[in-house]
Amino acid sequence: MASVTIHCKQCGKKLLSYDPQTHFRKYQSPVKSCPGCGTRYADPRCHEIAVEGLPADTYRIGSYLFLIVFGAFLLYRGYVLFHRFQLGVPGAVQWMMPTVFTLGGIVCVIGGIIEIILIKTGKKQERFDRLTKESVQRLSDKSYAYTLQDLGYPVPEEYL
Ligand SMILES: [Zn+2]
Repeated sequence: MASVTIHCKQCGKKLLSYDPQTHFRKYQSPVKSCPGCGTRYADPRCHEIAVEGLPADTYRIGSYLFLIVFGAFLLYRGYVLFHRFQLGVPGAVQWMMPTVFTLGGIVCVIGGIIEIILIKTGKKQERFDRLTKESVQRLSDKSYAYTLQDLGYPVPEEYL
């Protein structure tokens, strides 16, 4: 996994380090200031929904069903491992693997169920509708749109 590190162009202070493949997308203004010298920069982890939209799978229930199935599989593996005594494995390792599997499984299953409930009840859509409105509002401010563009963010013509 290749992680990206960004330093302040002005003072060289390390601003952030993240992995573009696995990092959660943040839906907020990418305009941030360096805590060292106050120089503004664009945080690549942050996205303006009004410009970029949402990932295609945001409301896709299938991917969360997959997560639940995956979680159930982990739970099953944990259960099996708990009941299998492995010869030649130190006692501490004996319970560690099944515990990790079981906890991971529970997190996946519960997380998947919560996401599906949020999609079904429209709560997820409500949240993103609100975030989209905030994003449009920010971009409607011309000085904000130009600042964003100056920092290298692709701002569409309609906001400039
Ligand atoms: Zn700086």
